[in-house]
Amino acid sequence: MTKLVTDSIKMVDLESQYLKIKVEIDRAIQNVIDTTSFIKGSDVRQFETELEEYLGRGVSVIGCANGTDALQIALMALDLQPGDEVITTNFSFIATVETIELLKLKPVLVDIEPDTFNIDVEALLKVLSPRTKAIIPVHLFGQCANMESIKAVAESKQIKVIEDTAQALGASYTLDDGTRLSAGTIGQIGTTSFFPSKNLGAFGDGGALLTRDPDLANRIREITNHGSNVKYYHERLGVNSRLDTLQAAILRVKLRYLDQYHQARNFAASYYDKALKENKRLIIPQRTNKSTHIFHQYTLKLIDMDREQFRSYLSSKGIPSMVYYPVPMHLQKAFSYLGYQHGDFPVTEKICNQVVSIPMHTELDENQLRYITDVINDYTN
Ligand SMILES: *Cc1c(COP(=O)(O)O)cnc(C)c1O
Repeated sequence: MTKLVTDSIKMVDLESQYLKIKVEIDRAIQNVIDTTSFIKGSDVRQFETELEEYLGRGVSVIGCANGTDALQIALMALDLQPGDEVITTNFSFIATVETIELLKLKPVLVDIEPDTFNIDVEALLKVLSPRTKAIIPVHLFGQCANMESIKAVAESKQIKVIEDTAQALGASYTLDDGTRLSAGTIGQIGTTSFFPSKNLGAFGDGGALLTRDPDLANRIREITNHGSNVKYYHERLGVNSRLDTLQAAILRVKLRYLDQYHQARNFAASYYDKALKENKRLIIPQRTNKSTHIFHQYTLKLIDMDREQFRSYLSSKGIPSMVYYPVPMHLQKAFSYLGYQHGDFPVTEKICNQVVSIPMHTELDENQLRYITDVINDYTN
């Protein structure tokens, strides 16, 4: 049977990605099994060190079990008190807000910029209060939030910054003074996720914390390990949240390909940009000049189009799509107790109805990209 271009179009193609590096990955996995050093095996520290080198001088990396734990551990490490306010974006994956609430801190939501989908710093300034103790910007879809302004506000008010870098590990940001820093290493702590579909994905759950502060690094390491530095002596309240050796061994292999993966994603994004930019019924993603973009997602905004009809049309042509995210945080049932109303965050509410993400991964080839963009441009409904 002839293989059709649509046979292989996926939102994320982890299988083809694996097959290209199967020999190295399988060897790394077998090696861990041979040593049976499943917890805190040598691959864990080696992966942390290699990621430290990748992210730049002076960065400490501490592995943990997943990106949600990383956020919780970051908040724990900053010794925040119940009732302290933590400002974050209204447009993200739920984990960002969940962990704030789990620690009995108070989430304060902020609207987003309509072009970048990232937290709107003007709106952030309006909700600052004497109880504001931390800000969690999310570098959504692979591009950094406005860190220059966030850093300035945070420094002037002595507020801590935790960067949720789950979607942007490996992106970089250039500050006004010319310093170029990796996403997640600009504020006090960065958190990331190695969920399989993230840009650096494991074969299961995984996460990490990043910091330039050696004291924070020690504290974070203790917290991930039951608050303990020396076995059976516990300095503080901690959790059990470690990066598995098997995952670390896999991540060591994949880290060597991360820049190549970013290039492949950028190739696809540029192709989409060029082919779709004249289409009057949609808006291509905006790139800022301060941040690189690693295109965790390629997200279009539809103009006066019925999104579900458009998505059914794509699906009938063999093209998957997803909506990240259909419901803003303030309208989630889980957060109804915060007392926000419909209309409180007009930009996020509008964007949630407008966005659609199309296939974006490291294995898209030109045939597929041409087919996807032709199909989109043919849509006349
Ligand atoms: C994936 C993700 C997380 C959570 O990571 P897990 O490893 O799935 O717990 C947190 N924040 C954002 C923005 C994410 O995309």
